[in-house]
Amino acid sequence: MSYVISAALIVFVIALYLRAGSKKTKKVKEKIARAEEYGFREPTTIHPKIDPARCIGSGACVRACPEKDIIGLIGGKGALINASHCVGHGACAEACPVGAIKLVFGTETRGVDIPYVTPDFETNIKGIFIAGELGGMGLIKNAITQGRQAVEYISCRLGSDRGQGGIYDAVIVGAGPAGIGASLMAAKKGLKFVTLDQGDIGGTVFNYPRHKIVMTSPVDLPLYGNVRLRETTKESLLDLWMSVIKKTSLEIRTGEKMTGLAREAEGFRVVTSKGEYPARNVVLAIGRRGTPRKLGVPGEQLPKVTYSLLDPEQHRDHSLLVVGGGDSAVEAAIALAKQSGNNVTLSYRGESFKRIKPMNKTRLDEAISKKSVSVALNSNVLEIRENDVRIETEGKETVIKNDYVYILIGGELPNEFLHSIGIKIEKKFGTA
Ligand SMILES: Cc1cc2nc3c(=O)[nH]c(=O)nc-3n(C[C@H](O)[C@H](O)[C@H](O)COP(=O)(O)OP(=O)(O)OC[C@H]3O[C@@H](n4cnc5c(N)ncnc54)[C@H](O)[C@@H]3O)c2cc1C
Repeated sequence: MSYVISAALIVFVIALYLRAGSKKTKKVKEKIARAEEYGFREPTTIHPKIDPARCIGSGACVRACPEKDIIGLIGGKGALINASHCVGHGACAEACPVGAIKLVFGTETRGVDIPYVTPDFETNIKGIFIAGELGGMGLIKNAITQGRQAVEYISCRLGSDRGQGGIYDAVIVGAGPAGIGASLMAAKKGLKFVTLDQGDIGGTVFNYPRHKIVMTSPVDLPLYGNVRLRETTKESLLDLWMSVIKKTSLEIRTGEKMTGLAREAEGFRVVTSKGEYPARNVVLAIGRRGTPRKLGVPGEQLPKVTYSLLDPEQHRDHSLLVVGGGDSAVEAAIALAKQSGNNVTLSYRGESFKRIKPMNKTRLDEAISKKSVSVALNSNVLEIRENDVRIETEGKETVIKNDYVYILIGGELPNEFLHSIGIKIEKKFGTA
């Protein structure tokens, strides 16, 4: 009798377990369908590749990933959901107890362009180095380490032939994690160098959403020491950069964009928005996000103007203008319209939204019919002012009340620049 009860209990527990599993599978399938619809399923760059033959469905990868819904379990196996949101921490691969996950670039059908670099981070052009995410390997710790190692190599190669004449030993472009790592090593090695950034100190980290949880690993910072970070926030990490920079007296020229790079007899000439620097070596630590395109209208320099939407929830009861006709602009307008009390205008110079995903078209049409977004087609922004914006629509000028402007009209990608200066680029199709 007790055998029967035990067997029944076991069957009952198994049935409960299977039921819970199939409920979870159903949810994950729904999320995948949504990700397909929004175009988030196809990875754009680095992402996990799960080997189903090895996966035992422990779910460790799902729990380890700090981003939301990148991996889920279907029928006891790992599956990608919003693969394009992966930032490449690799926490999933590390957590997998059976090594079923590898991080790869691109997919079999969609290649990713990665510049060729030697193990010392030098490109096919002697004297031009690439460190950090631009070289394909994201993550804060990797970027810092690569910047540091590239400059250590430069310093070794220069030997005693450094700081000579009016030429820099190294110009470091970019002040994200890779540029900071490179600059600290350059200072430690006593190189004559300059670091510049088109934006602010911190790189991509500076643009994370407010209070974002940042996962990283302990890392050695030249002249500062070992930083034992594992989980922190965007704000604390930026505070740490600032204290490192202060303590090491590093000088970083912000708001200075590299606009050109030419070869010269003794090395290179780095041309920027503010001047020119002759350099023996150049470290490109410019990440992969590129430079946002600007409108070039008066008032664009006002602090209320931004080129990416990080946190729609910070806007309530605001008058907002989104400029652009692509998916980013449409998604931003819809996200802003969802917050209570906002008044959102989407301005686009084209006559219709031809390039956007079908789902965005449907959502935009819904928002227009609910009057939560007003669309100004065939329109151009003429001027951005403190409390309003002047817009010309089909030859007619109007002034609309405005608190914030989001300009989402694309940008120049770094690969185009690398190509133009002759740096060799390789396409990776789902390889590690
Ligand atoms: C939303 C999000 C969340 C993430 N979360 C994590 C996380 O939790 N943990 C983690 O380890 N990684 C995370 N990452 C990845 C990490 O932020 C990047 O891998 C890292 O910042 C790369 O550093 P980098 O120095 O190579 O490039 P970036 O940080 O992109 O810095 C490049 C710098 O170069 C400057 N620049 C570009 N072009 C020019 C030019 N022409 N002239 C002058 N300056 C120029 C830019 O202004 C920028 O400051 C995340 C990424 C994103 C997008």
